[in-house]
Amino acid sequence: MAEFIGLVLEECPVNIDDIAKATSDDPLLRSIQQRVLMQSWSQVTPAEEPYYLIRDQPTTIDGILLFGNCCVIPEALRHAVLQLAHEGHPGRDIFKDALRRRVWWTGMSKDADKFAEQCSECWRRHTNSAQELMLSEIEGVWQKLAVDLVCIEGQQVLSIVDYGSRYPELLPLSATTTAAVIDRLMEVFARFGLPRVLVSDNGPQFA
Ligand SMILES: [Zn+2]
Repeated sequence: MAEFIGLVLEECPVNIDDIAKATSDDPLLRSIQQRVLMQSWSQVTPAEEPYYLIRDQPTTIDGILLFGNCCVIPEALRHAVLQLAHEGHPGRDIFKDALRRRVWWTGMSKDADKFAEQCSECWRRHTNSAQELMLSEIEGVWQKLAVDLVCIEGQQVLSIVDYGSRYPELLPLSATTTAAVIDRLMEVFARFGLPRVLVSDNGPQFA
């Protein structure tokens, strides 16, 4: 048993001493620890109820509460644990599975969902991959165009290349303003029709 608990503690994502300290600073977990030690579950408060329901499972060792083979994480360390488990921004299932294998607290699944929903990096990746998927699905002639401003022998030129046919257009610009770029694009679209997607380097004229 001691060896098993040692393994559990080794796998715990945060420092064991920090968990023990935060557990003793957490009035609810301190009370649960007492109840586990005393095997006494009389007059359970509403906050203690979830622990009462699993009362055959918790054990306590070295100041840490264990539920099954998971460390019970005090509230003060939950955010840090979520951050650790979310390193590398895994998908939600992998993220929650990593948590479930090592740690436990009441409402952990909901907290993990909320954490993942609020992660800006996950949002960025999700949006980019959705855009990439959309762009990769677009095929055919004059559906997707790459536009850019280039300088040829001192003359500013709007370069347009069609992804579908590799057809290039080079159009001299009177000025490198947004209005001049729009004028040139409108001329080209009047001749060939509107594409579905324009890909640019996000220069100010294309914003
Ligand atoms: Zn993320």
